[in-house]
Amino acid sequence: MAKILVVEDDDHQADVIEKWLQHEHHNVDVVATFADGKAMMDSYTYDAIVLDWGLPDGTGIDLIAAYRSAGGTAPILMLTGRTDTSDKEQGLDGGADDYLTKPFQIRELSARLRALMRRPAMMVSDVLKGHNLELDINKHQLFKDGELIKLFPQEFSLLETLMRKPGVVHTTEALINHVWKSEAGASGETVRTSVLRLRKKIDTAGEPSLIENVHGVGYKFRQ
Ligand code: CA
Repeated sequence: MAKILVVEDDDHQADVIEKWLQHEHHNVDVVATFADGKAMMDSYTYDAIVLDWGLPDGTGIDLIAAYRSAGGTAPILMLTGRTDTSDKEQGLDGGADDYLTKPFQIRELSARLRALMRRPAMMVSDVLKGHNLELDINKHQLFKDGELIKLFPQEFSLLETLMRKPGVVHTTEALINHVWKSEAGASGETVRTSVLRLRKKIDTAGEPSLIENVHGVGYKFRQ
């Protein structure tokens, strides 16, 4: 299961992609504009992004630039109605990882996405650092002041999500969607419990928690 963002203003096309990816058990968010795409990218962490070139309020290429410059690392599959090679090159140079020319077979799209998500995430930093913590993504290890701290898989995933965007508030719902499987039946209470457990492991006595609770909204990693 991956969390995938689809930015596509053609309703029918978006619907076909959404249904197919859901059928493949992915978590899919669909938006139709540059502005909404940007908002979703700023708020959530995705495993892959499907992005239409021509959006009503901007171009996919500008959206990629904004996403990459904000540190976004998810692989991006660009959809284009254009057949001009220079446009494709521009897309790839601009930070897209692959492109698909419309019209395409939906199976082709999911095959390309699978290939992109299997790729080693070359742009992703292997070690996230914040305050006295170091989270080694590849080795799945957390160090606090250089000491190894044991985390449960869900705690690790939760901390990774928060540490990837320090200072950015993640809604409880977004955390549930990203960290827990849909069928796990996780609730706000599940998130609260995990955050409490995590705090006990990572916080330092007498100092404010590294995971800040934004009342009524969610959580963020202290900047
Ligand atoms: Ca379009």
